[in-house]
Amino acid sequence: MRMTSQRSIILDEIRKTHAHPTADEVYVLVRRRLPRVSLATVYRNLDVLTRAGLIRTVELGGCPRRYDGRVDDHIHVRCLECGRVDDVADALLARARSRVEKVSGYSISGHHLEFAGVCPDCQRRARGRRRRKNAES
Ligand SMILES: [Zn+2]
Ligand SMILES: [Zn+2]
Repeated sequence: MRMTSQRSIILDEIRKTHAHPTADEVYVLVRRRLPRVSLATVYRNLDVLTRAGLIRTVELGGCPRRYDGRVDDHIHVRCLECGRVDDVADALLARARSRVEKVSGYSISGHHLEFAGVCPDCQRRARGRRRRKNAES
């Protein structure tokens, strides 16, 4: 893979954020530095970077595909309200992996593990809504 300057800016923006952006969000980030870049170019480069193993896709049930600058093993937790995706501590995953190997006898090469719930921001927003509702009634 040839590392064009466009490509390295896209890679840089994905590595900088921990938000697991969608292609459209990557486009918005990258456009600040490359005002003339097209969405198609961003899509194409995301594809190339993924195939080169420099970034990872995060495919979560029913959500648009997201991109991750972290390529080491880690667990994702997804908010059911806003779709936000966060990373969870790795020690947990290493323990789970060795446990699964032990009980199954498999040599584990990968995983697809996702937790879902409501993120702290959405919990705060929901509490605020409830408070307003109580004040009205
Ligand atoms: Zn949320
Ligand atoms: Zn991640």
